[in-house]
Amino acid sequence: MFRNLNLRTKILASIGLVVLLSFSLVILIVSIKSVDMAKASAYQIARETASKNGNYVRAELDVALDTVRTLSYTFQEMKLSHDVDRETMNQILIKVLKDNPQFVATWTLWEPNALDGRDAEFINKTGYDSTGRFIPYWSIQSGKEHLEPLVNYQVQGAGDYYLIPRKSKRETIIEPYIYPINGKDVLVTSVVVPLIVGEKFVGVVGIDIALDTIQKVVSEIKPFETGYASLISNEGKYVAHNDISQIGKTVNNSQVREAIKSGISYTTTNKGVYQVYVPIKIGRTTTPWSMAVSVPESKILENAASIRNFTVIIGIIALLIIGLVIFQVASSITNQHLMLEIGERRQIEEKALRLASIVESTDDGIIGMTLDGIIIDWNRGAEGIYGYHEAEIIGESIIKLIPDNQHIELDEILANISRGMPMTHYETIRQKKDGQLIHVYLTVSPIKDHSGKIVGASKIVRDVTAQKKLEKEMIRMDQMRLVGEMAASIGHEVRNPMTTVRGFLQLFGENFAKYSEYIPLMISELDRANAIITEFLSISRTKTTEFARQSLNDIIECILPLVQVEAINEEKSVILKLNAIPDLLLDHKEIRQVILNLARNGIEAMGKGGNLKIETFSRDDEVILAIHDEGVGINPEIMDRLGTPFFTTKEQGTGLGLAVCFGIAARHNAKINVETSPKGSTFFVRFKL
Ligand code: ADP
Ligand code: MG
Repeated sequence: MFRNLNLRTKILASIGLVVLLSFSLVILIVSIKSVDMAKASAYQIARETASKNGNYVRAELDVALDTVRTLSYTFQEMKLSHDVDRETMNQILIKVLKDNPQFVATWTLWEPNALDGRDAEFINKTGYDSTGRFIPYWSIQSGKEHLEPLVNYQVQGAGDYYLIPRKSKRETIIEPYIYPINGKDVLVTSVVVPLIVGEKFVGVVGIDIALDTIQKVVSEIKPFETGYASLISNEGKYVAHNDISQIGKTVNNSQVREAIKSGISYTTTNKGVYQVYVPIKIGRTTTPWSMAVSVPESKILENAASIRNFTVIIGIIALLIIGLVIFQVASSITNQHLMLEIGERRQIEEKALRLASIVESTDDGIIGMTLDGIIIDWNRGAEGIYGYHEAEIIGESIIKLIPDNQHIELDEILANISRGMPMTHYETIRQKKDGQLIHVYLTVSPIKDHSGKIVGASKIVRDVTAQKKLEKEMIRMDQMRLVGEMAASIGHEVRNPMTTVRGFLQLFGENFAKYSEYIPLMISELDRANAIITEFLSISRTKTTEFARQSLNDIIECILPLVQVEAINEEKSVILKLNAIPDLLLDHKEIRQVILNLARNGIEAMGKGGNLKIETFSRDDEVILAIHDEGVGINPEIMDRLGTPFFTTKEQGTGLGLAVCFGIAARHNAKINVETSPKGSTFFVRFKL
């Protein structure tokens, strides 16, 4: 199918296809890459957001931790220097609380009698319980510092703020919990530092901080517009979340909880949401928290999609431009191609026209035929040679041109042609439309189609009938010249002694009366021999011909009595039909001889009562003398030999009459034709004007 398309469409289609494919590939790669890139950059941003905000949270908690540490150093120093005073320590706690508005409470808790050994003195006093241990808890209520004793410190869970650091002897951040401040529930955490004196655990000091500022900051984190962040405690509880209702609740995913507890980073993609968890380690605590940032993938891919769409649009525009360019280029290429082709075709056409006019103008017949011998081409030359018009012979078999007895030739010619063998200068006989046979030279060559297959034959025919005739004439003339030369010499050699003999015979005739009766016979025999020689000599050109412009009709009328005498003797008659003709350049003796010889032959050919007709007329540029007899006609087999000296079919014939006539005709530049049939013969002598 591709082959049937024109060149321009082919170029367009193939280049277009290649460009389309490469563009699609580029777009595919770009969209895959842009998705990857968008994801990578989104993850990067999420991680950065998480660690940046994690740092903020750590900084907030560090402030509290630093403060608690300072408190612990102070208290430990006081204990070491035995300069302990419960009132002073309370004052310090109050001062720190008041200086830092973000602190909810400051507090300390000492082991029984570990501080000053005076616990018994403080039993059930304000800020003490029944143990008398130093356990003050300072908070702000209605703008004033407020003291109460710590509670539940021996209870597992509620007393973690004391029990955990006592056990670990390390800085600790307690799991956040809800605590009412000024009648409002606030999420609070405790930052606790153990008090160690001389490697002995003596108590803890701590600060409670409200996490609502952190909550506010975290809730405002909105990566990629719809993303959000959360702060998660070591136990997996939401400390801050953009959805307030989630605060205090535990993270569902146990793997996530595990990672947070161990303080390692964790990423997960859950229900199309990308989440990154970054650990937050505060001071020397062993309970890291975690900052989580969640980004919905759809939002990330939106960017990638817009990059891809942009690429597709650019691609389509580029494709259109390229298509237009290819179209232009293809058009110009195909136009050039077309022009070349048109030029080539024109040249071919011109050549074909030239060849056609050569074929039409030549006199040679040029015939095209199929391998079955059916004629398909016929030029003017062929028409001239065979007499058939193109319209009546095309589609006919070539056999029509071949005489019946030569039909076998065709098979041979066609067989040769089928094998690709040409035939040159093949000489043969062909038949014209009117039945006349002609001599021809043939050249037959195979015709091949563009693939080299032989599809027919071309035949070039030359009519050589006239040439053949001329050749024969030449031969005859040659013979006659030879005979003429012979005649001249023989004539002289024989005649001279004969004249002498005749002279003596005359003398004898007068003197020898005894033999006188034989002598006339001898003389007449000698005269006959002489006549033969005379006639024979007239063939030769030794005698000069005397031309004069005169009337042929006059010569005929002059010789007529002689002819008539011979005709009447044999009971035959002579009819004269002389038309007005122009005078000719003639030797009247020689013309007499021609008329006499032809008339005699005619009379001799006829039976008794036959009519000899002598006729003259002019036609075209010729004057014609026709001598017609009603004789038996001439056998076709001897037609060729007429005029050959000494050729005769008669017992008393010399075979010289026609030879003389041909010789004379040649000298007069005239031609002799014969038409013959069993009903009679006509000899035409045609004089050129
Ligand atoms: P000749 O008459 O002596 O035989 P020609 O040269 O005149 O010699 O003729 C040669 C031959 O041509 C004749 O023998 C005869 O066979 C033939 N011929 C010539 N003219 C005619 C004619 N009018 N009719 C029949 N045969 C003819
Ligand atoms: Mg004769």
